[in-house]
Amino acid sequence: MELVFATQNAHKITEINQALGNLFKVKSLMEIGCLEELPETQNTMEGNARQKAIYVHETYHANCFADDSGMEVEALDGRPGIYSARYAGMDKNMDANMAKVLDELKDKDNRRARFRTVIALAVDGQVTIFEGVINGQIIHDRRGQNGFGYDPIFMPDGYNRTFAEMTLIEKNSISHRAIAVSKLKAHLEAHQKL
Ligand code: IMP
Repeated sequence: MELVFATQNAHKITEINQALGNLFKVKSLMEIGCLEELPETQNTMEGNARQKAIYVHETYHANCFADDSGMEVEALDGRPGIYSARYAGMDKNMDANMAKVLDELKDKDNRRARFRTVIALAVDGQVTIFEGVINGQIIHDRRGQNGFGYDPIFMPDGYNRTFAEMTLIEKNSISHRAIAVSKLKAHLEAHQKL
């Protein structure tokens, strides 16, 4: 039985194959002939991950999982959340996105934030949800060159470096995505029939 990762991001496929080892071979959407954009119209990360997984499961009759991630800032009522990629506009400009968050927080004392990943696994008509969270705070300026997205302004609890000041290996050992993937992996290992 095949397991498809419902993402257009080739980098994520490589990462997941590394995380899962040779336990499961994860296929990309391209490998099953799915080239269209996946529906992502819900207003929660859970909803979007679930919607993408079910779409591929039902349209391509493949067991699959989909993910959705974002940064949630406490003082901004959880924004940017599902709008993380396009917070400052449709062009997905991360510098503008970070500038918008920093501006919105400039008069706020509470700079608590978290990254969250939700993975929805759709197997044999049943959906199981896995979540990974890392808490931290938004610093006042950008620090570091590594990573992507909001990494330069996010400092996880217990560290005095931002995600962008960590090596990829270090970030990936503590990140929201790593936590969600390790839960998925444990579940798949316990259900070896895949
Ligand atoms: P996706 O659902 O994994 O594509 O993530 C959506 C958006 O959330 C990304 O475009 C980033 O803006 C933000 N994001 C998700 N994960 C991270 C991360 O690990 N570091 C920084 N930004 C992230």
